[in-house]
Amino acid sequence: MAKAIGVDLGGTKAIFVLVDEYGRILKKKKYATPKEKKEILRMLVKGIKEIKGKEKVAGIGLGLAGFLDSKRGIMRFSPNIPAINNVNFKKYLKKYFKEKLVFENDANAFVVAEYAASYKKKYKNVVGITLGTGIGGGVIVEGILVKGRGYATELGHMIVDFSSGDVCACGNPGCFEELTDGKALLRKARKLGLNVKNNIELAELARKGNKVAKRAIEEIAEYLALGLVNIINIFDPEAIVIGGGLANIELLIEEAKKKLKKYRVVRKNPNILKAKLGDDAPAVGAALLALEDFIRMKKTPLVTVDIIIEYYKRGKFQGIVLVKRKFEPKGWALPGGIVEYNETLEKAAKREALEETGLKIRALKQFRAYSNPKRDPRGHAITMVFTAKASGRLNASSDAASVKVFNIKRLPKKLCFDHAKIIADWLKHRERE
Ligand SMILES: [Zn+2]
Repeated sequence: MAKAIGVDLGGTKAIFVLVDEYGRILKKKKYATPKEKKEILRMLVKGIKEIKGKEKVAGIGLGLAGFLDSKRGIMRFSPNIPAINNVNFKKYLKKYFKEKLVFENDANAFVVAEYAASYKKKYKNVVGITLGTGIGGGVIVEGILVKGRGYATELGHMIVDFSSGDVCACGNPGCFEELTDGKALLRKARKLGLNVKNNIELAELARKGNKVAKRAIEEIAEYLALGLVNIINIFDPEAIVIGGGLANIELLIEEAKKKLKKYRVVRKNPNILKAKLGDDAPAVGAALLALEDFIRMKKTPLVTVDIIIEYYKRGKFQGIVLVKRKFEPKGWALPGGIVEYNETLEKAAKREALEETGLKIRALKQFRAYSNPKRDPRGHAITMVFTAKASGRLNASSDAASVKVFNIKRLPKKLCFDHAKIIADWLKHRERE
């Protein structure tokens, strides 16, 4: 079974995991996050090496908090870990590791892990938000993580109160994160005159019935409800999974759910659920994303047909029919195409021949199958090659530039795919017959 390494680099700690294809944790390590950029990078290399040991891994995934260029592995702006701003993680880690490297926003990694572990069989559309220091968001639509051009989905930076006067670390006024995260809650409590060290203490006070503590939580719940309304109206998910430290404050979640009821939403009652995986989710999700290609490899190759059409005129053999492709890869090729669902190979061959050349073929016979994974530059396709006979008018289809009969002694020098080899095999076979 394939394995991968996942890393969640947080502001205070970094979690390293080794997981299998199901996201099960086989090994785990935790380190404190250093303050300096250089030390952070060194810690990442050390952590990955240690968790890797002698294991063979398919990939390494990193979950990173902030506006991340996930394709290039560059952190453009991390409001909560300024030391990693503008760090090119990919360039740095490539020097140490040959494995495939995948970079993802930590909240995206979080929702991938929660989805894989708990909701995949039940729902297709799930939104995850991490309520902690900052607010992260990840969205799964029809089973696929929404990535935009690489930065999506920063739900924490939806503007929910322009007039609040609070400016978010991103520079915009009144972001969901600025008004609703752990720092906002603590600020609110202190503003109301409550001297608490952290939100755990605050939540405990509220649980014991402290009115000021409860009020602080209720006021933050107002903003949480606003954020949820926007999320529901935009994505119409079946479930919203809430993780992060504040998800443990039951009063906050319950109040937000209550306040949600007074708003209009596209559809009532998406399930609002508490995350199940705890602190490990972003690391596990990052590992699963690194494994994705591997998991996807369980899909089967495409099945196609190609046809060597022997062309006859007044009973005399003239040559074989080739089509000039209008699309990439351009050039001359045998007529053929993808077998449709519920179609036999023979039917597909007849259909493709008619579509691409205008010819009704007869004496259809299977020749050989070709399955080299590299034979088609667009992806793995197995082709069944047929031989057939035809005569009559040639008629190029709309996706072919032209269609022509070639004397077998004067074939084009270059052919697309492995069609030159296929034709050479066929000519040899023909000589022997
Ligand atoms: Zn913001």
